[in-house]
Amino acid sequence: MSLNPTPLADANTGRARGDAAAIAVRGAVKRYASPSGEFTALHGIDLDVAGGEFVTVVGRSGSGKTTFLNLLAGIDRPTAGALIIAGTRVDELRGSRLAAWRGRTIGLVFQFFQLLPTLTVAENVMIPMDFCATFPSKERRPRALALLARMGIAEQADKLPSSLSGGQQQRAAIARALANDPPVLLADEPTGNLDSRTSDSVLELFAQLAAEGRTVMMVTHERDVSRYATRQVTLVDGRVSDDSAVRPAAATAPIGEAR
Ligand code: ADP
Ligand code: MG
Repeated sequence: MSLNPTPLADANTGRARGDAAAIAVRGAVKRYASPSGEFTALHGIDLDVAGGEFVTVVGRSGSGKTTFLNLLAGIDRPTAGALIIAGTRVDELRGSRLAAWRGRTIGLVFQFFQLLPTLTVAENVMIPMDFCATFPSKERRPRALALLARMGIAEQADKLPSSLSGGQQQRAAIARALANDPPVLLADEPTGNLDSRTSDSVLELFAQLAAEGRTVMMVTHERDVSRYATRQVTLVDGRVSDDSAVRPAAATAPIGEAR
């Protein structure tokens, strides 16, 4: 069974997938109300990311990294500005249309895995497929098992998450993020609870997923991601203070084409 039954990319160039995975952010502002008044967490972010880039977002605690990812995922809304993924204005989607769009377009990976504890690993991976009905019901479990096999944890499929190691749980969470074959992966400190060897394997996996033409945006505290990422964006107090190419994206057009 193919893991990509509806390929978005030309296998040789990755270009079509690249378009489906492109991100554009224009003047994204986020203000939070607080008892002491309004607090501006993001001061007008502008960013263009081509499909197939593996972007790391770094910055001190409180610099706005999670806020930024949440705006991209449509988990939260900007106070001003626009966030566009594959041509869709994320900030203008609401309710069930937003949920359906997110389910098909974005794979989310979190620091604390966020697997549902009462479901098996395979059932966790099937949740997004059930929610979006992207695959016929009889294909969902075989697809979940194939994704778990790709993550190297096929034998954990019918166990509960609590019986897995942290690294295995994060691999299960990544399998779940890939359930609907989304063009974009957003990960918020996915290696924050993993030992360094397990972290490396997760970073390697994200690099492979980007090389397939997916866009990967990962918030991280890891110091040396230059072996894996194509680009590093640094946030300071809600502003982009640095945006550096680390190396060219593998599967898609040269980095910078969309800037
Ligand atoms: P990071 O992920 O880089 O640590 P966050 O995006 O979580 O940063 O937070 C950025 C700033 O916004 C912080 O000062 C934080 O306290 C503030 N903040 C985040 N979420 C909220 C919220 N829901 N209400 C008020 N302030 C918030
Ligand atoms: Mg954060």
